[in-house]
Amino acid sequence: MWPDASRVRVFMPFPSVEVPHLCAQCMDYPCIASCPVQALSKDPNTEAVIVDRAKCISCGACIRACPGTVPYLHPGDKKATICDLCNGDPKCVEVCTEAGYNCLTIVNEPPNVHRKIYSRNPYDTAKDLAVKMFGEKGEEVIK
Ligand code: SF4
Ligand code: SF4
Ligand code: SF4
Repeated sequence: MWPDASRVRVFMPFPSVEVPHLCAQCMDYPCIASCPVQALSKDPNTEAVIVDRAKCISCGACIRACPGTVPYLHPGDKKATICDLCNGDPKCVEVCTEAGYNCLTIVNEPPNVHRKIYSRNPYDTAKDLAVKMFGEKGEEVIK
């Protein structure tokens, strides 16, 4: 209903390529470490990043610290917005499955997997896809 406010955002750097973008719950949480006012914390049960919107001063440090620039300032209240895993019951997975797309699944990874590899700038991901699709010319598709 309001894609700009969604915690799963979809970027379309060039026609026909859509890149979903969301928090990967990095194991070292650079976003949490970067916040100057301790507005971010890790949920001990789900490992999701929790934003204390009352504390957030909209400085953008967490966005710059994230390897994939995943957090963003909500277009309404301008506070940092990050997937909170719906308290362990992800609604995005539910609706995607109900709609028959089956693009999202819940993955319980072994603890030694470096999740940060899933946190990438969507334009870098799109560049890799463009090279796969168009060969060397793919580099020119996305500047
Ligand atoms: S934008 Fe908010 S949550 Fe992010 S670092 Fe700044 S104060 Fe912390
Ligand atoms: S992907 Fe970004 S927002 Fe999510 S835990 Fe890692 S640094 Fe934080
Ligand atoms: S788990 Fe919940 S908050 Fe996170 S992207 Fe899915 S629906 Fe949004």
